[in-house]
Amino acid sequence: MPLELVTIPCLQDNYTYLLHDPASRKTAVVDVPEVAPILKELLRREWLLSDILITHHHDDHIQGVDELRGVTGARVWGAEADRQRLPRLDWSLWAGDEVRVGRESGTVIDVPGHTRGHIAFHFPDSGLAFTGDSLMAGGCGRLFEGTPAEMWSSLTKLAALPPATVICSGHEYTASNLRFAATIERDSPALAARTARVAEARAAGRPTVPSTLAEELATNPMLRAALPSVKSAIGLPDADDATAFAEIRARKDRF
Ligand code: ZN
Ligand code: FE
Repeated sequence: MPLELVTIPCLQDNYTYLLHDPASRKTAVVDVPEVAPILKELLRREWLLSDILITHHHDDHIQGVDELRGVTGARVWGAEADRQRLPRLDWSLWAGDEVRVGRESGTVIDVPGHTRGHIAFHFPDSGLAFTGDSLMAGGCGRLFEGTPAEMWSSLTKLAALPPATVICSGHEYTASNLRFAATIERDSPALAARTARVAEARAAGRPTVPSTLAEELATNPMLRAALPSVKSAIGLPDADDATAFAEIRARKDRF
């Protein structure tokens, strides 16, 4: 039985996710921007929280962790590389390590770029990936602590997951990400169609996450930097992939 996924809006524009294994009744949450909306959802579903997974150290992803642990007794999992600036970890993780939610296991993928110790979680059996502020809907996180080459390598790892993978990312930035995407690929029908879907969702107050990797591959300019048509569109037809990505990410910073 696949894991059940619940998307919870938090703060201004953050998202957190519940992952529930119906067989074992274990439930995990990925990042804790604030506690109240998570507790409300757990209560409503009569789910007990067993695990808290952390993608990276920024406040808007961890500030509720200690309080939520106090209320639920859940175990906290995060990157060993960032141990000093994360809440106290019960389990620390390196790339390739396994995390378990009930009977299903996920793999830790190292995705530095936004921050040095940023990790993602991939649950292959349920086809879910939790990418935090690395790969985002229509874009990627800003490079606060990493180089463009590091982020490009992180995105390349995520791009290699099965295209049907559901991408659970950390923020509602999709509309503006797609507005930027249209400055790179001006005549993309896939982008136009996604932009329309996103506008409709926002008008109805619905989240635009999760997305699928297939959608991201078709429309997210940060994943499309290696395409000859994209390199030409940014005036760098002969650039290597990481350089083309660096140019696109730099343009987004100025957008
Ligand atoms: Zn962040
Ligand atoms: Fe964030």
